[in-house]
Amino acid sequence: MENKDKVSVLEQKLETQTAALEETKKQLGQALEECKHFENKFNTIQHDLGKRINKRAEKLEEINEQLTLELNERRMITESLQESEQQFRTLVDNIPGAIYRCKVDEEWTMEFLSDAIQEISGYSAFDFIENRERSYRSIIHHDDIEKYEKAILEGMDPLKSFFIEYRIFNAEGKTRWITEKGQCVYSVDGQPLWLDGAIFDESDRKFAEEALQKANEKLKRQATLDGLTQIGNRRKFDEYLDEEWRRMKREHGVLSLILCDIDYFKLYNDGYGHQAGDKCLQVVAQLIDSVFRRPADVVARYGGEEFAIILPNTDARGAVYMAELIKKEMLRVNIAHEYSKVSQSVTLSLGVSSVVPNHFISKEIFINKADKALYKAKENGRNKVVCCSDVDKITIKQKFQRQAPFLA
Ligand code: GH3
Ligand code: MG
Ligand code: MG
Repeated sequence: MENKDKVSVLEQKLETQTAALEETKKQLGQALEECKHFENKFNTIQHDLGKRINKRAEKLEEINEQLTLELNERRMITESLQESEQQFRTLVDNIPGAIYRCKVDEEWTMEFLSDAIQEISGYSAFDFIENRERSYRSIIHHDDIEKYEKAILEGMDPLKSFFIEYRIFNAEGKTRWITEKGQCVYSVDGQPLWLDGAIFDESDRKFAEEALQKANEKLKRQATLDGLTQIGNRRKFDEYLDEEWRRMKREHGVLSLILCDIDYFKLYNDGYGHQAGDKCLQVVAQLIDSVFRRPADVVARYGGEEFAIILPNTDARGAVYMAELIKKEMLRVNIAHEYSKVSQSVTLSLGVSSVVPNHFISKEIFINKADKALYKAKENGRNKVVCCSDVDKITIKQKFQRQAPFLA
């Protein structure tokens, strides 16, 4: 081949290669453009992402702060709760009674009971909770269960609280006196939830009260008891007569009174001595007392050697019968009285008075009538029973005799 041709071929080749290069250059330009485009896009995304990450970080920071605050608050609440719990414990431990919360069920099952119950009952609080060993109800005195449940049920009223006094048997089987105060707690819709209350041991106070009451009763008995004869004294007579006078007035019942006086007792004292006289008074008093069996009949020492018997709901016949019985008993017992002018033994003169108390007669007149009858018995020879109605008859007879002596 000639050089001209060779150049031509080379030129052609060059042309082709230049075109190819142009094409490659163009492609590269396009690729560069695309790269730039992607780079821009990437930058934008990266920018957005950075912004979003920052926002998220800020948010997280905020949440973190909030959480720290809440955590602190919670810690404070826990501390304050612990403090309250501690205060409650100290309070419960220092109260001289057991604090409880029980269910409103048949056994009044304990949900909470403070340790003080151990000292009160001898059983541990643990044993009572959920009735593990025994229910609290099971240690209540059988005679007080009904009263206990009634008081609690009455106290279930939402506006009321209950207060009960009852007995329990402690672990040693001994009786203890308890006072309990409590209240029912209700839900917002009015359902009873539980009972809250406190149990106190009042045994010392109660036993002291009982002893005091017994001492008072003894003192009261002594105040109305005659020291020498051990029967009622004049005070007893006055009080009882007053009571029965009013009662018989209300009930329109017959009230009778027997007044007895030992015959020639001065001579007895003079003959046997004052000590023997005292002994005689004691025997006579006990003898009279033993004759009367009705609880309403009261025998009292009315004066030195005088005795009185108050007989409610007893008419004159009954009272005279009883007076005669005393007289007979005196004869039967036969207390020697060699100085008496009517008998070898101690005798009594007895005056009887009976009345249905009313507005037209006074107690004093009633007593006076018995006294007059007694006086008549003395006058008629002693060792006798005279009834006031007989006295009235005698008095009328005497009056009549004075007015018309020829009829005597
Ligand atoms: P009459 O049959 O009339 O009742 O005669 P009397 O001697 O029983 O009556 P009087 O009133 O003259 O005497 C009562 C006596 O009772 C006088 C007193 O010494 C005695 N007396 C009164 N109280 C007591 C007492 O507590 N002890 C003793 N030992 N004697 C008493
Ligand atoms: Mg007398
Ligand atoms: Mg006398």
